[in-house]
Amino acid sequence: MSENDSKIVRSVIDREELFLNSISQNIWKNPELKFEEVYAHNLLTDALIKYGFEVHKNYLLQTAFRAEFSSGDGPSIAVILEYDALPGIGHACGHNLIAEAGLAAAISIKEAMENDSKIKGKVVVLGTPAEESGGGKVKLIKLGAFKNVDAAMMVHPLKADWFNPINLSRLAVSVDFRGKESHASAFPWEGINALDAAVNLYQNLGLLRQQMKPTCRLHAIITKGGTAPNIIPAESRVEIYCRAQSIKDLQVLREKVEKCIVGAAISAGCSYKANFDEDNMYYDLVTNNTMCRLFEKNLGSKSPTDPAKLGILPVGSTDMGNVSHVVPSIHPFYNIYTEASNHTEEFTNAAGAPRAQPSTLNAAKAMAMTALSLMRNPEKMAQAKEEFKIAMLIKNSS
Ligand SMILES: [Zn+2]
Ligand SMILES: [Zn+2]
Repeated sequence: MSENDSKIVRSVIDREELFLNSISQNIWKNPELKFEEVYAHNLLTDALIKYGFEVHKNYLLQTAFRAEFSSGDGPSIAVILEYDALPGIGHACGHNLIAEAGLAAAISIKEAMENDSKIKGKVVVLGTPAEESGGGKVKLIKLGAFKNVDAAMMVHPLKADWFNPINLSRLAVSVDFRGKESHASAFPWEGINALDAAVNLYQNLGLLRQQMKPTCRLHAIITKGGTAPNIIPAESRVEIYCRAQSIKDLQVLREKVEKCIVGAAISAGCSYKANFDEDNMYYDLVTNNTMCRLFEKNLGSKSPTDPAKLGILPVGSTDMGNVSHVVPSIHPFYNIYTEASNHTEEFTNAAGAPRAQPSTLNAAKAMAMTALSLMRNPEKMAQAKEEFKIAMLIKNSS
């Protein structure tokens, strides 16, 4: 890491601090759901234009964008921004801060590149919508957004520092049960109760949970369960997320869930249709250690708190996992000094509080310096790529 790069990165982000903060504040005040992030898309692309990037608005998806700055032949490093919110509780995952950190990193990388003609490469700023559900990055990968990208990075707020987290692979399943209506009091024996099938399934999943690996997760909700108490419900719907530490474990879990569905339908006498959303499957996160060590060194922090002690092992799933199966990637979690867990109203408040600012901008600085290190040191980039190749070989053969 060049001393000079570090100085420039710090001074640019410190200089732009108020503007960067206003970006995350504005996104926080205007939460938008998956694929509807028009406000955030426009705000961020306008900012990137202001800082002199070549900007492609509505890149491949309506609320995705791509901005680039190149200084000649060298590695292409993608800095990933997220900016979608959650239904009802706003920015309860702090994606407003992810957008701020990504923008901060991007503008400081650019200025460091302009300052020294020896830094050769390209910074690619990718605005990726719909992380919470919808799989924005899954779609962007399929549409070719990561072709000619050598490495990708983003940071994510949490109540602790955790730079190489366990993020699980995830498969969404929806099940529709079909029975037969009948008068619930006069002729109940003529009905086939689809709600019974849904309840059976919910119970089956609860029992299955006892025999899963501790790193697996199963959660379900019943989204349709009848229209009136005096009608035997003819239709019901259950939505399930299955999660596991690897795609292989996820396949094992999937087969067991399938049996839970079949059993639930048979015992209630219903027919069923199960939709396993393979196209939007989230992959487990593969942290590139070479990049992660650079990030950690650049952050200059003492060793992060052991997340296991905080009871946050493992965390959820992210479509950045899919990116990490395509190019060497990091997705470090950084502490915004709250007691709250993500996806709660308390976390929404924490993501909008001034207290989250210093660590967000520090994470942005570390990310910028990591990108610049990869551009300056071809051997580091090569090492990251080699490590990625081996990690994927092991994954695909085990
Ligand atoms: Zn989230
Ligand atoms: Zn998130």
